[in-house]
Amino acid sequence: MENYLCVKFPALPENESLARIITSAFILKLNPTLQDSEDIKTAVSEAVTNSIIHGYSSTEDGEVELKIWIDDRKVYISVKDSGEGIEDIDMARRPFYTSKPELDRSGMGFTIMESFMDEVKIDSKPLMGTIITMTKIV
Ligand code: ATP
Ligand code: MG
Repeated sequence: MENYLCVKFPALPENESLARIITSAFILKLNPTLQDSEDIKTAVSEAVTNSIIHGYSSTEDGEVELKIWIDDRKVYISVKDSGEGIEDIDMARRPFYTSKPELDRSGMGFTIMESFMDEVKIDSKPLMGTIITMTKIV
């Protein structure tokens, strides 16, 4: 059986680093290069930060679910929130697009995820939430 992990945590900023640590620990048995490990951790932290800042911008409670599973040397990661959702996904993917310039966001999160991972899929519906699914072969 291929290994997997599923963890749910409240949408608190401090849990972004927890998500990074969990991810790097889980993929360790694949012996990834330092670069691959850094790339995957960074992509996870961008997705988790987005759920916290954008998904739950107007509420204090909210949960983020991180799933990681491995098939041979392919790492699958999904980050899910039940927050505000994304109205225009094509626009959200664009480099430098941010809906929160007042918070000094640079609009590069999805661009970073796309450059560090092999595939990035965005499923989102306004008021329903967002699931980001990413894969990378290490
Ligand atoms: P940066 O990541 O550089 O700090 P950013 O978060 O605004 O800035 P992206 O991560 O590329 O940039 O996201 C682009 C936009 O997509 C966001 O500004 C936001 O409007 C929307 N978005 C991203 N993730 C979510 C989410 N989980 N829920 C709701 N909206 C989201
Ligand atoms: Mg972002």
